[in-house]
Amino acid sequence: MLAVRKTSPVHGVSLDDIPEPDSPASGEVIVAVVAVGICGSDVHVYEWTSGYEFMRSRLPVVLGHEFSGKIAAVGDDVVGLRVGDSVVVMPGISCMRCVTCARGTPHLCPNKETLGLTRDGAFASHVRVPASGCIPIPAETDLSLAALTEPLCVGDNACDVGQVTAGDTVVVLGPGTIGQAIVRAARWRGASRVIAVGMNDAARLEVAQAMGATHCIDLADGISLQQGIHRITGGKPADVVIEATGHASSITEGLQILRKGGILAAAGIHAQRASFDLTEMIRNKQQIRGAHGSRRQNWERIIDRIVHEPESVRPMISMELKINDAEQGFRQCLARSVSKVILRPD
Ligand SMILES: [Zn+2]
Ligand SMILES: [Zn+2]
Repeated sequence: MLAVRKTSPVHGVSLDDIPEPDSPASGEVIVAVVAVGICGSDVHVYEWTSGYEFMRSRLPVVLGHEFSGKIAAVGDDVVGLRVGDSVVVMPGISCMRCVTCARGTPHLCPNKETLGLTRDGAFASHVRVPASGCIPIPAETDLSLAALTEPLCVGDNACDVGQVTAGDTVVVLGPGTIGQAIVRAARWRGASRVIAVGMNDAARLEVAQAMGATHCIDLADGISLQQGIHRITGGKPADVVIEATGHASSITEGLQILRKGGILAAAGIHAQRASFDLTEMIRNKQQIRGAHGSRRQNWERIIDRIVHEPESVRPMISMELKINDAEQGFRQCLARSVSKVILRPD
């Protein structure tokens, strides 16, 4: 099968012909991948920016963790999944044996593996996964939209971490696909103002608007973030700021537009260290929290939305490509000219 792999710790990926996965072990299944999205983290891995050194010892690895598909084979001791079922798959694999998992917080498991980063993922026609990570979805679900489940869950989790509630003014820094997912999740929670902010990012801000942003600010228009927010809110600071840019300056600037006692949830992957006025943050009783990945509860919530409100998330998809054209997809993502690029391995 053709697979998009990271084979060595340098810039780029390779399209390789590799054997299909062996038959599933006990507790595992093989998923025939129908649709798989290129994630911002895949782009980081492609560029080999800092923050992904943990992958070094795992190479070569098939990338791809945002996917939907159909069960192609079922190992022993698997209940509730049958060949032909449509599924989405949680990419984080917790050990379920450590103290953290036993405490009921498997998303914090220190032994966590991730499909498409530390073990073979879904940029291929077939992928072997633990049955426990598979969530069946209704057969009629659009599987391209279902491939958006993971990034939408990351956005939903970021809103959990930021404690977004009805009536809030939420500022989302970064209009990439995670920013777009945060916008949608904030609207689902009843935030009354959701302001998406980008820098020279007209195409992706347009998608953020289609995903529910009530206002958009492009900082390339020559205004500062503070000025832009002031114009929209009449001087009222944000209740919650969620950062999905990966630029250190967005933490500094995000704190400046956040109300006293407000939460800044940082969801970007940062190549640089951030610097900000700690005393001011303390006096303002603000909190900075890290938001990463998602939890099972996000998956249940988001699958329900995709099934019942498919059109509310469709604007995220910019293009669908054959897996042979993965390189083209990565280049489009690098140019920030697109939102979600979906690869179809069939
Ligand atoms: Zn992702
Ligand atoms: Zn564990």
